[in-house]
Amino acid sequence: MGSELSPALPVIEHWIGGKTFASSSQRTAAVFDPALGTETSLVRLADAADIDAAVGAAQAAFPSWRDTSWAKRQQVLFAFRQLLDERKGELAEIVTAEHGKVLSDALGEISRGQDVVEFATGMAHLAKGEYSENVSTGVDVYSTRQPLGVVGVISPFNFPVMVPLWFVPIAIAAGNAVILKPSEKDPSASNWIAALWREAGLPDGIFTVLHGDKVAVDGLIEHPDVASLSFVGSTPIARYVYERGTALGKRVQALGGAKNHMLVLPDADLDLVADSAVNAGFGSAGERCMAISVIVAVEPVADELIERIRTRISSLRVGDGRRGCDMGPLVTRDHRDKVAGYIEIAKQDGATVVVDGRDVVPDGAADGFWLGPTLLDQVPITSRAYTEEIFGPVLGVVRVATFEEGIALINSGAFGNGSAVFTNDGGAARRFQREVEAGMVGINVPIPVPVAAFSFGGWKSSLFGDAKAHGMEGVNFFTRGKVVTSRWLDPSHGGINLGFPQNV
Ligand code: NAD
Repeated sequence: MGSELSPALPVIEHWIGGKTFASSSQRTAAVFDPALGTETSLVRLADAADIDAAVGAAQAAFPSWRDTSWAKRQQVLFAFRQLLDERKGELAEIVTAEHGKVLSDALGEISRGQDVVEFATGMAHLAKGEYSENVSTGVDVYSTRQPLGVVGVISPFNFPVMVPLWFVPIAIAAGNAVILKPSEKDPSASNWIAALWREAGLPDGIFTVLHGDKVAVDGLIEHPDVASLSFVGSTPIARYVYERGTALGKRVQALGGAKNHMLVLPDADLDLVADSAVNAGFGSAGERCMAISVIVAVEPVADELIERIRTRISSLRVGDGRRGCDMGPLVTRDHRDKVAGYIEIAKQDGATVVVDGRDVVPDGAADGFWLGPTLLDQVPITSRAYTEEIFGPVLGVVRVATFEEGIALINSGAFGNGSAVFTNDGGAARRFQREVEAGMVGINVPIPVPVAAFSFGGWKSSLFGDAKAHGMEGVNFFTRGKVVTSRWLDPSHGGINLGFPQNV
């Protein structure tokens, strides 16, 4: 929601045409430091004039960037990669101050974003075409891939660096002009990245940051000069962006929410499982689309596993991400309260609360948005705590009798982002990999986020559209193919023939 301008707080402005933009929009939103619980700045929320200015600047810059050689574009990518690598500590501090995740985790997301930058430095190879000579007598055919124009990227709060970098380097390397609409909850990282692109030599207008809320997103969807939309966020909004964008004839990839399960077979190494469950359940306070939120334990392992997880939770330090803690606060007070509400829902529905994160004693300010790691056992699969995405440090255990029951349960859910199996049985792992309905699968790996050369994306309500992020699907998404059939006249020219061209 917008709030009144407060002269006491700095305002985070749009970045348009290579510089901070003087907006006349009167709407702003508060940005908090979640570990302190205090408002630290305001972010400008775009109005119609801001959206027009952003698209106009991108549209004006596009033709010359499209016509810039592969070699020169790659030089900018290499320079950006170098600067990011040298200065990522600064960026991690910005992420921690607005998101709350601990510094080491912020550095981790930056390095996964850097992975995509490195992938995109190979764009001259990735987007190159094919050539076939003499497909018909005297006729050659070749293909090229060309940029789309102005492309929109809309990102969620939970990865203010990595998620934009899933798309932006590939789009830019391919010759597009990008408008990023970051989450209004942690907007500063985007402006820092924009300044870094400029320093790396990217022409003004090729990377724009448009801050805002639904008004900005709708503006990008509806604007006729925005060719494509790459959205990441919750499922209802992903569905909305996909449906409205495609109805307008745009290319859309919309990544939605998740509820990732970990199937634990009786032969698994329970120490590995317990470590993995704690890391994947509580890292980044569970605010990861690839977090594990449900353990499906094939009996008789549940009691033993729960004990090992409980022991590990008791050694975790929850607190301010700048103090070397393991887990930080949640992003906002509202979100903390919503996640805590699911603990109550689960309890009322009959789950056992093994560890209650509401009792946490944090190493941080009293007003921080704290909720400690929470472990629930015997979560009824009819409970909203099981069926809905919680997006916080709440790990539920569901007990099943067999592998088949476990996989059927996992496949009955609405989401299909990631799924993991823990076992020492190769045959069971192979069967899981083939039968599970998820876009990303881990075998004794709890957070199976693919490296940049592969594509990231789920199935079912976790992805709308048929193009995932990065890898070749990302390259194809940000380029469009053209096939040229060419003949240079020679004595074989056959004169008039109204029949359909045949290969001769
Ligand atoms: P969100 O859906 O609230 O917001 C995402 C983006 O949409 C933001 O930029 C926001 O400003 C914008 N937005 C918010 N309300 C809107 C509306 N009514 N109309 C149009 N745009 C709107 O998501 P979030 O809370 O920022 O992020 C958490 C969600 O993102 C979780 O559901 C998580 O699973 C999901 N996520 C998914 C992936 C994935 O790869 N599948 C990755 C990261 C996060």
